[in-house]
Amino acid sequence: MRLRNIPYAKEKLANHPELVILDGSVHKGAWHEVFGNSNPIAIEIGMGKGRFVIEMAKAHPAINFIGIERFDSVLVRALERGLEDPQCPPNLRFLHLDAELLTDNFADAEVTSVYLNFSDPWPKKRHAKRRLTAPQFLSRYQQILMADGYVCQKTDNMHLFESSLLSVNNYGMELLMVSLDLHNSDFEGNIMTEYEEKFAAKGQPIYRLEAKFAA
Ligand code: SAM
Repeated sequence: MRLRNIPYAKEKLANHPELVILDGSVHKGAWHEVFGNSNPIAIEIGMGKGRFVIEMAKAHPAINFIGIERFDSVLVRALERGLEDPQCPPNLRFLHLDAELLTDNFADAEVTSVYLNFSDPWPKKRHAKRRLTAPQFLSRYQQILMADGYVCQKTDNMHLFESSLLSVNNYGMELLMVSLDLHNSDFEGNIMTEYEEKFAAKGQPIYRLEAKFAA
């Protein structure tokens, strides 16, 4: 994502604690208190401008959604979208966080699902560790996911998708779903992200996988 510095981002994020969490570590093990209920918690890592996580929260009111983004100049766009939306739901929060620090912010088994949408592909071999489906990240997801929790990835990038399939397989995860053309499949309830809409408009196939850790 092209990153334009937004000078007012930090201040605006700080002014909306009802939606934005700047320090998630204080809620580790107690995210249910943030939402005031004991519903399952789903996270999207690298939510960008937030369309997916906002629409998912609306579509699934009995699940709490946390959209995670590491850049404040991007996170503020999601916040603005949420603030402008008259139907912005109560089961939604945005968390300013680099996914490298997930386990400092979520307790073991605190999360029910992890969504990765159009993550940065990091095509160079020497950057493979930065891919959000690299084993170092899978191990963090395994720690914070409850038994039967799952990881979902969507991407337009065939190389990233291949690398993800290999990575989840080598990690011993069970693949629950693989689609090589999501938009022409019988998958129901797909919610498009900003990137997805752009790539789909160009006629590019969208890949999707869903996988869970072995018991
Ligand atoms: N998911 C959105 C979509 O599909 O439209 C945005 C995709 S954009 C290519 C990837 C986003 O992930 C960027 O906003 C980037 O800042 C964020 N991101 C990448 N690595 C991250 C990490 N380690 N932790 C949190 N966010 C990350």
